[in-house]
Amino acid sequence: MVRPFRVYDTLSGQVRPFVPRVSPRVGLFVCGLTPYAEAHLGHGRTAITFDVVARALRRWGYHVFYVQNVTNLDDRLIARGVAESRDPLELAEFHFQGWLRSMEQLDARGVNLYPFATDYLPEIIDQVSSLVARGFAYAVEGDVFYEVAKFPAYGRLSGQRVEALRPGARVEVDPKKRAPEDFALWKASKPGEPAWPSPWGPGRPGWHIEDTAITSRLLGDQYDLHGGGADLKFPHHEAEIAQAEGASGKKPLVNYWMHGGILQMRGEKMAKSVGNVVGLDDGLRKVGPDVLRFYYLNANYRSPLNYEEGKSLEEAREGYSTLFAPYRRLRGELLRGGLTRPGRDLPPEIARTATAFPVRLDEILAEDFQTREAIAALFGWGRMLNEWSSKLETLSGASLVTLGAPYRWATEVLGLFPERTGAKAPVEFSALVQLVLEARARARAHGDFGEADRIRQSLLQAGIILEDQGTETRWHWKRDGTG
Ligand SMILES: [Zn+2]
Repeated sequence: MVRPFRVYDTLSGQVRPFVPRVSPRVGLFVCGLTPYAEAHLGHGRTAITFDVVARALRRWGYHVFYVQNVTNLDDRLIARGVAESRDPLELAEFHFQGWLRSMEQLDARGVNLYPFATDYLPEIIDQVSSLVARGFAYAVEGDVFYEVAKFPAYGRLSGQRVEALRPGARVEVDPKKRAPEDFALWKASKPGEPAWPSPWGPGRPGWHIEDTAITSRLLGDQYDLHGGGADLKFPHHEAEIAQAEGASGKKPLVNYWMHGGILQMRGEKMAKSVGNVVGLDDGLRKVGPDVLRFYYLNANYRSPLNYEEGKSLEEAREGYSTLFAPYRRLRGELLRGGLTRPGRDLPPEIARTATAFPVRLDEILAEDFQTREAIAALFGWGRMLNEWSSKLETLSGASLVTLGAPYRWATEVLGLFPERTGAKAPVEFSALVQLVLEARARARAHGDFGEADRIRQSLLQAGIILEDQGTETRWHWKRDGTG
């Protein structure tokens, strides 16, 4: 049995009961990164919003297949590659690896697959071909464009009319297009750019077509839930609907569209192009993954969230510390005596409230993922524990475990409280050790074995054992007594 829930669907403009196409299976697609630079706090917000959606759905019994694409080739990547004298595909891989590390730190591990656009060239070419064959697209001199006039529903998701979407008169329109709002499905390659063979000559895919080629392959022509930042509604998601429904002839592409509010700084969307960017890793370094998750989740996911330098994360740190304090006290008591420690039982009404609390939290989240309200309820629970704090030390281990039920829910669904997330800190630590090992490997390569040995001894004093295997070195923690 799965738990019913409701979600705000952008296309209908309503909070609707969620009905999977084939219960309990749920296909979830979220627009991912174009990794041409380091990810910023805005990217992190979208990732955490949908991480919680995936966590909640799994807790509620749904079998979620969560796909987040990686646009590893586009104009910005090519421009960056030229500027840095790097292969754009390699540049994308580099920044994507950084993204994965940030996601690991944030304990956002719910994505099942990160498909790279360039791994889906056959699917992309197939979809463009069928759009041409079905009269939705036209080829001109190696480019292929989608003819928006052929798809009357274009603009419905973002609530705009096609005429209003036309660029101003001063914007230069590609003369190859039949209408200014037509968009590229396939682009003839320019000299020096990565290119793939196609029926229209060597070229590369447009941005929008990547997503629908990937989803039709991995999730089917129609699937359950599509997520992304609100800024992607137009033109990106309009284009996705036009492409997928045009190519397959099946409507609707997805049953529910979820859009997360954008992160703003100084009144504008945080974006590299605007220049008001704070790196995701900077945020992680500043306050750590739990406070960052708290910052994102202590807000309505659909509303814009304002980031103020020197204020927002600091406030989140205080808020999280208040939320965390009663839990820490509870856990401290439990660690002292363990589950079997003797003591008093809880008054029955408190035990009942504690046991029922996660259900209440599920109910809150099942009404359009209102994480802020769930956190407010957790604050309430913490206040009650604070009033009780003098009695905590008299309680039995079993009573303490019962009182912790709301927090276990928060760990599972919101990813807060470093219970199962204890592996976060060592990610950065491992990178640091790796850095030291590289320095040592260089010393060894230069025949400076004295230096290599000195590093080994220093690490040993810090409790780290090195094992040399040829030129490779592995490390592990010294275990008590075993050296
Ligand atoms: Zn997308």
